[in-house]
Amino acid sequence: MHDHAAATDIGRVRDHNEDAYTVVPLIDGVLCAVADGMGGHAAGEVASELAVESMNVAGRLVRRGETALPLLEQAVDEAHAKIREQAQDGRQGMGCTLTAGAVRPGQVELLHIGDSRAYRLRGDEIEQLTKDDSLVGEMVRQNLISREEAQRHPSRSVLLRALGVGEVADFTSTTVEVQAKDVLLFCSDGLTTHLTDSRIRELVQGQRSLKKAAQALIEAANEAGGVDNITVVLVRCGGPA
Ligand code: MG
Repeated sequence: MHDHAAATDIGRVRDHNEDAYTVVPLIDGVLCAVADGMGGHAAGEVASELAVESMNVAGRLVRRGETALPLLEQAVDEAHAKIREQAQDGRQGMGCTLTAGAVRPGQVELLHIGDSRAYRLRGDEIEQLTKDDSLVGEMVRQNLISREEAQRHPSRSVLLRALGVGEVADFTSTTVEVQAKDVLLFCSDGLTTHLTDSRIRELVQGQRSLKKAAQALIEAANEAGGVDNITVVLVRCGGPA
């Protein structure tokens, strides 16, 4: 119904992988999430694991035909509180991004914070469904720099919002229309710092399977330098269950 594939890679520069992902089957779809940790040492990994685990729990509570977002939002609020608690326990600067989507026939319910991304690929089109909560993302929106300049900008990893940082979890929730055969991509910035949107589209379209596409994306990011951890989750949207 909803074919999917996922892969994560440490990249070529980092000595550990602070990204995390999950794919949770729903009765009528699939819930995907990518989180990218920050805070150094073990902190980033702990934060991204907490975020992803909250989606595992929320995914098991989603019922057919009922909106998923309230469950996802509650779970993320709880993950935010847990990360904050641990950050105050000596893991300063701990936090993570989270981009999650409950993919079901006709729509994807998205919850997003940080600079990981969700994309929708349809025919020859690729569209970013999430807004980068980053300094360079804001500069692109204000037409101060181009998307390509943002990819190389020295401050490209400065986040304006992150899970576990600040009083409340300042995430964005949206619902976006999908059609059967659309492909959704959830990814960390280790992919998008190296590959343009059109390159991502070419790589996905040029492969026979989502599994091969996931591998091709990771290989291309590594060939371009692999400066960060790289995580991708791909879902091909199905028709009505
Ligand atoms: Mg990253």
